[in-house]
Amino acid sequence: MKKDHQIATLNELDRALNQLATQTLPIQTRSAVHNALKQLQQFQKSLKQDAGAGRLAALYQVSQSLGVSLNLDEVLTQVMDAVIQLTGAERGFLTLVDPDSNDLDLVAARNIQQENLSQKDMEVSHTVIRSVIAHGEGVVTTDAQDDPRFSEQDSVIVYALRSIMCAPLRARGRIIGVIYVDNRAHSGIFTNDDLDLLNAFATQAAIAIENARLYTSTDQALSSRLSELETLSQIDQELNALLDLDHVLEITRQWAIKESKATQGWIVLCDEEDATPKLVSSPQEGDAPNLDQGVVARIREHPAPQLIPAKDDNLAYFIAPLSHAEKTIGAIVVACPRTVSYSDQQFLERLAGRAATAVENARLYQAIEFANEAKSQFVSIVTHELRIPLTSIKGYTDLIRQGIVGKITDQQAEFLDVIGNNVERMAALISDLSDISRIERGKIKLAFDFITVQNQILETLSSLRHKLEEKSQILVTDLPEDPLRAYADPSRVVQVITNLVSNAWKYTPEGGQITIRAYAKGHQIYGEISDTGIGISEEEQTKLFTQFFRSESPIVREQTGWGLGLSVTQRLLEVMGGEIGFSSQVGKGSTFWFTLPTTAHKE
Ligand code: ADP
Repeated sequence: MKKDHQIATLNELDRALNQLATQTLPIQTRSAVHNALKQLQQFQKSLKQDAGAGRLAALYQVSQSLGVSLNLDEVLTQVMDAVIQLTGAERGFLTLVDPDSNDLDLVAARNIQQENLSQKDMEVSHTVIRSVIAHGEGVVTTDAQDDPRFSEQDSVIVYALRSIMCAPLRARGRIIGVIYVDNRAHSGIFTNDDLDLLNAFATQAAIAIENARLYTSTDQALSSRLSELETLSQIDQELNALLDLDHVLEITRQWAIKESKATQGWIVLCDEEDATPKLVSSPQEGDAPNLDQGVVARIREHPAPQLIPAKDDNLAYFIAPLSHAEKTIGAIVVACPRTVSYSDQQFLERLAGRAATAVENARLYQAIEFANEAKSQFVSIVTHELRIPLTSIKGYTDLIRQGIVGKITDQQAEFLDVIGNNVERMAALISDLSDISRIERGKIKLAFDFITVQNQILETLSSLRHKLEEKSQILVTDLPEDPLRAYADPSRVVQVITNLVSNAWKYTPEGGQITIRAYAKGHQIYGEISDTGIGISEEEQTKLFTQFFRSESPIVREQTGWGLGLSVTQRLLEVMGGEIGFSSQVGKGSTFWFTLPTTAHKE
């Protein structure tokens, strides 16, 4: 430091003059020496004051810029520049303690020209650094070669270190590193005052470094958590895109390998049906070595996240169990480096949590599909088998009724009517059931064509008109003159309208009114059947369209029906690309509407 050099030189001069003053000198020379000594002492005093004030000013100046940036690299560069500027040292080093490993990391090194030092120039005394970290106190040595504390040290000898100064960086009560400066060529460069200055600076530098470190690590932790959340949400989307078990397993396996940087991945599922549960492997058997059976067995014995060393020295198996409703339903297993990071392990556990739900949903869906298929097959067989005897019952009843096998009494005729009506009811049930089963199994055959909806309405009404008249119901039709063209199966459209008008007829008392409207709107044809009947309560409305649902009302119960008409109607409309809806008020009546597309669509 410039001023300190001057002070040292003046001290030398002071010593020389004092020595001279002790000699026998001519009187004039003696008084000249005394004067010179006096002036020298005054000069020394003012120089020292100057140096102190200068130090404080310099410290204030360099400290001001600290803390402005939260970028760790920037802060380290600022600290190094300030250290060189403050101490005038030949070289400066900054060493930080790694919070995880406690190792010392040399994070910055600069020379007086403010150039970064190359690795080969990093010749520092580790003894000095370790001693500062251990004792938490700064060290200054004016000549390390002669200092009994350090002169024996290899680095001091080999690197020919002379002036060394080192101050601890202390933040939040912990020593987070040291600032180390040295001058190899000259001794006596640093004084205790310099060390005080360096200590004062180190206190501020430590806070700035710690803040930047905290900010960087929080920032990094946040952004990695954010990117993990993004990944997981993408995984969720992919897992839930299809309720197909194989798809769910493969998606899970791929993500597990990708995100944990594993070399291989397996999904193991516990087979629930087997009494001694065996484990079923993932779908990619064949393109990977088989998973060690010991690892598979481990999933049952110890269903917890765990790392099992593999035969290969560097490899391990990480197991992330798939748990659902507190049961282990399987596991994700990856072959990964033994050093797999904690965050990768955590990711696999989170993935397992999501995959478990998706696997369970897919399995449930599979089971439901299986049960549905079995039910549809059963219905299809039963309806087919019932149709044949019913046809023969109906045929023979008609023959007897017509008197072909002999004259029948009035009572016999009455009985035959009862048989005939019940056969019709059963035939209607079989027909509805077989329609539902065919639609569910995708086996329904529709004869699509462009139709004029008015024709289907009039055809239906002509067959039902007598029924309406029997109940003295007023029939109102509101149909436009222009043909309403729809693309549908004409006989199925008649079936739909018949079901809805029959319901209006059944559930509207004598003398009530039934109105049928039809109109075009957008790309659809609307049909509407309104009645002034009993209406449907709000609670019953929620169950409408459910198979076998019938209101408990005695008015409903005295009518024939199986509670399948609306369900069949809804499904038929759906397969024709249409919809159904309704509005109803108890005691006032109901309106059922349906739509049919006007254009051809993919069948
Ligand atoms: P079903 O008429 O054979 O009972 P549906 O599936 O056609 O079977 O109708 C189911 C139930 O919905 C009926 O039992 C009845 O309770 C109610 N419902 C249907 N249409 C009407 C209507 N127009 N007015 C009042 N209730 C109705």
